[in-house]
Amino acid sequence: MVSPSIPTTAEHIINEARIFQVLEQAHAPDDGELDEILAKALELKGLDLAQAAVLLQARGEQTARVFAAAKEVKETIYGKRMVLFAPLYTTNMCVNDCLYCNFRCSNTELKRKRLTLEEIAAETAALERQGHKRILLVLGEDPRTSIADMVAQVDTVYATRVDNGEIRRVNVNAAPMDPDKFRALKEAGIGTYQCFQETYHRATYATMHPRGPKADFDYRITAFDRAVAGGVDDLGVGALFGLYDPRFEVLAMLMHADYLDRTYGAGPHTISFPRLEPAPGAPLANDPPYKLSDEDLKMVVATLRLAVPYTGIIMSTRETPQMRDELIHLGVSQLSAGSSTSPGGYVEDEDPAEAPQFLTGDHRTLDRVVRSLCASDFMPSFCTGCYRRGRTGHDFMDLAKPGLIQKFCSANGLITFKEFLLDYASPETRAVGEALIVRHLERIPDEKMRAWTREQLAKTEAGERDLYA
Ligand code: SAM
Ligand code: SF4
Repeated sequence: MVSPSIPTTAEHIINEARIFQVLEQAHAPDDGELDEILAKALELKGLDLAQAAVLLQARGEQTARVFAAAKEVKETIYGKRMVLFAPLYTTNMCVNDCLYCNFRCSNTELKRKRLTLEEIAAETAALERQGHKRILLVLGEDPRTSIADMVAQVDTVYATRVDNGEIRRVNVNAAPMDPDKFRALKEAGIGTYQCFQETYHRATYATMHPRGPKADFDYRITAFDRAVAGGVDDLGVGALFGLYDPRFEVLAMLMHADYLDRTYGAGPHTISFPRLEPAPGAPLANDPPYKLSDEDLKMVVATLRLAVPYTGIIMSTRETPQMRDELIHLGVSQLSAGSSTSPGGYVEDEDPAEAPQFLTGDHRTLDRVVRSLCASDFMPSFCTGCYRRGRTGHDFMDLAKPGLIQKFCSANGLITFKEFLLDYASPETRAVGEALIVRHLERIPDEKMRAWTREQLAKTEAGERDLYA
């Protein structure tokens, strides 16, 4: 991996003037142009900024063609597997004042709370009892939580085990930090480091983040450069939709992804684009300046799927079940499920004074989400194989590009799904899930891999756990 000197400004990452120029030149495509762009996307070569900008203008009957192409690309690369995870909020204390977030420091109504390690263990145990194997640790920006505290939190999650449960991958969504701190998190065994730029538009960013360390746009956008310097190579980019023009944000995320790819030999592992949800102590969130309609959100998902085909797309429980059911067909590859966005929310009944970070739209349990995925023929996956076999960053992309990821994803997904059915599922979910395993096993193209997977499923049925390719 190249290790260039770590940038301290956005200069080489985002070129606002260029984005505005591309947006200005982009026009609604005619059918011929659309054919050409979709043909390139179907070759899994991604799209450049101008092509993505044109796709975002597709209207009427054209949208169905864009959606069909996105579905095809998703299934070619990832098959029909859907990775499931849950967030774990460790604190709602924060020194920043993001105008859209309930945890903002000027919200005096919120009862503040920082979980102890015992409470984190209890939350982890509650998630394990649902059947989760992957957790996203979500941290406020709280100077009283030192890097040693963060490491202890990660250690606690990994060390907690109940009822056949263990968390096998801890990803982290946290404020930007310096390389030595990233290194400490990497040594603690974190997977992906997620940090959303919120808005890539500098002037809007300044308005939305009036005070606190997060007000520094450049320090935030260069977080991934410092993460790579600290040895963290699975990176999760994102923007919060509703703050600024969504077309600008899409192109900016693509520019950021391209920068990471060119500089470090691998683009981001995941991309997230939550829509602003109502938050009790943040009036701006209740009336976003740039609302993204459901139709436009679908087009954003499809465009990103075509533009960066190898990057995982994450959708959280901010969206409603109906919307999530539509978006999974357009390119989403990871879903959160059975989620709480308050520290302590998995163990305690909600106290109105400890309101969550924002209000979620999908309140179904993990079991219900799993059953509904099966009904749409999607294979729920709790796989953590790539990360544990060292297939991360550059190495992951080297495998993903020739289509090999699907081989591992299908096998590992089926084995982890079998564990879920045996250890956690309701009888109804187990019945539909077992039928799905039979169908999906037959679809593994490579005969040897199919036989190997069948063997691991039998061993799992007999009581072995945590088998993966
Ligand atoms: N405090 C750290 C930070 O801001 O990067 C990490 C965690 S923050 C709790 C996680 C993400 O929640 C933010 O990056 C933001 O995009 C999202 N968020 C904040 N308020 C939201 C809202 N009202 N609706 C939807 N997402 C929101
Ligand atoms: Fe704090 Fe993050 Fe919320 Fe901003 S988004 S107020 S930094 S928790």
